[in-house]
Amino acid sequence: MKPPPFEYHAPRSLGEALDALAGTGEHGKVLAGGQSLIPMLNMRLAAPAHLVDINRLSELAFVDVAPEGVRVGALARHAQVERHEPAAAAQPLLRQALRLVAHPVIRNRGTVVGSLAHADPAAELPAVLTLLRGSVRLARPGAARDVPAEDFFTGPLESAIDPGELAVSAFFPAPPPRSGTAFREVARRHGDYALAGIAALVVLDDDLRITSATVACVSLGPVPLLVDVSEAVGHRPSASADWASAARAVRERVDPEADIHATAAYRRHLAGVLTEQALRDAAREAADA
Ligand SMILES: Cc1cc2nc3c(=O)[nH]c(=O)nc-3n(C[C@H](O)[C@H](O)[C@H](O)COP(=O)(O)OP(=O)(O)OC[C@H]3O[C@@H](n4cnc5c(N)ncnc54)[C@H](O)[C@@H]3O)c2cc1C
Repeated sequence: MKPPPFEYHAPRSLGEALDALAGTGEHGKVLAGGQSLIPMLNMRLAAPAHLVDINRLSELAFVDVAPEGVRVGALARHAQVERHEPAAAAQPLLRQALRLVAHPVIRNRGTVVGSLAHADPAAELPAVLTLLRGSVRLARPGAARDVPAEDFFTGPLESAIDPGELAVSAFFPAPPPRSGTAFREVARRHGDYALAGIAALVVLDDDLRITSATVACVSLGPVPLLVDVSEAVGHRPSASADWASAARAVRERVDPEADIHATAAYRRHLAGVLTEQALRDAAREAADA
């Protein structure tokens, strides 16, 4: 199928893009990598009257690494961030998750910020932003605001982006000292959206006892659920941590749906298995940090 008709805007600067978006309001949509939007247009699941294409805004194709974390501009592609060595060193979870996003061809076009804006509960990056307590910077002419991840994802394919706003960047905070991260998921085929996925962050103290353990869930509810399992695993060395109890806590919290790919019960089962695996991986990484 072909997309419904729309007016195409091709701004050459951030200022032009913000003006174009402000002018089109709720009738406008941003076109970034197009890896989600174009299929939705072709399937007539979306019919915006205006498309504002940000692909000429090379000023937004940045990955900035600082001691506090990694800021990714709206035109940085998945592949660019995945291959960015300083970003992978500053926040390893980015690369751990990006390797699981679709296929290389899609990662060459799709953008990190576009994935956050799309707010698909089956996508990896919203869980990453949630776990790390990152934020998204939204702009309109003359104004900008930073929205924390916990307020950004408001429902399936729904976010805090108001009509006329552009997500200009996302910030992924650096991990605390003596911490480790991991991403585990199960998909029917490599590159498919995950049936379920878990991103994990484990922090140890100087005696290598666990001080905090958290996970964020993929495909296990309408938004990426954050679960603090620190109490469940106990303040112990990771060799004697109660990972099974953490898995139980996550299984009880998730709210998965059934679809043609998996039952809700199977997704809930995966939530437990993947939680245990991801926490063990993250704890191992933390011990080596
Ligand atoms: C076959 C296939 C498999 C895939 N598998 C996965 C997967 O396993 N995991 C995964 O996470 N993703 C997957 N994707 C989606 C892919 O990661 C997309 O790149 C991503 O979801 C959207 O990024 P994009 O830059 O292509 O955004 P677009 O498709 O251009 O836009 C998506 C939506 O976000 C809005 N938007 C984009 N950028 C901005 C912005 N800067 N400000 C405001 N709104 C904005 C658009 O208006 C649109 O509503 C898959 C895609 C395909 C086609």
